[in-house]
Amino acid sequence: MARYTGAVCRLCRRENTKLYLKGDRCYSDKCSYERRSYAPGQHGQARTKYSDYGIQLREKQKVKRMYGLLERQFKNYFKKAERQKGITGTNLLILLERRLDVVVFRLGFANSLAQARQLVRHNHFLVNGKKVNIPSYLVKVGDVIEVKEKSRQVPPIVEALEALPRRGVPGWLELDKENFRGTVKTYPTREDITMPIKEQLIVELYSK
Ligand code: SF4
Repeated sequence: MARYTGAVCRLCRRENTKLYLKGDRCYSDKCSYERRSYAPGQHGQARTKYSDYGIQLREKQKVKRMYGLLERQFKNYFKKAERQKGITGTNLLILLERRLDVVVFRLGFANSLAQARQLVRHNHFLVNGKKVNIPSYLVKVGDVIEVKEKSRQVPPIVEALEALPRRGVPGWLELDKENFRGTVKTYPTREDITMPIKEQLIVELYSK
């Protein structure tokens, strides 16, 4: 699956917000956005006034980058959200949160989403006792996500669990840290998604 391989801190500076793409570094004073909170490039410090379209586009780019997706993947989630009952913007965020790599990150088995995705791809997790190595796998209520027995000493997983108190686990998930296991108690609600996202702008953009 194609993915963005450029410098990720540039993305935070471009979107003018911390996207938390680099794990521990994001919480330290080494964070590039903390040091240079203006857009990258030669004209990065120039004042930019966005049109309505520009504001919608930036919001879409921000969320897409938060979840580490490329345009086509993101648009497919939007189309799926549109077909579901309820509010399209909320449906979109819930679908994104249900991705296995996101759940692994939220449960604290990885320090960043990119790391979670790599750990999933490298077969470190079981879902309901079966091997699943597809980051886009959508979890369902009642699913049990577990670190494989022989992967429980893998340094990134151990380190991420140690750093977990800083982030906490969202209420729709339950972590059994002793047994390296998490359960999906319910689907997330809009209130569970605490990142600064204005999803209505994305709906407006794609509805043009
Ligand atoms: Fe963004 Fe993290 Fe880089 Fe800071 S360290 S700019 S939050 S990716």
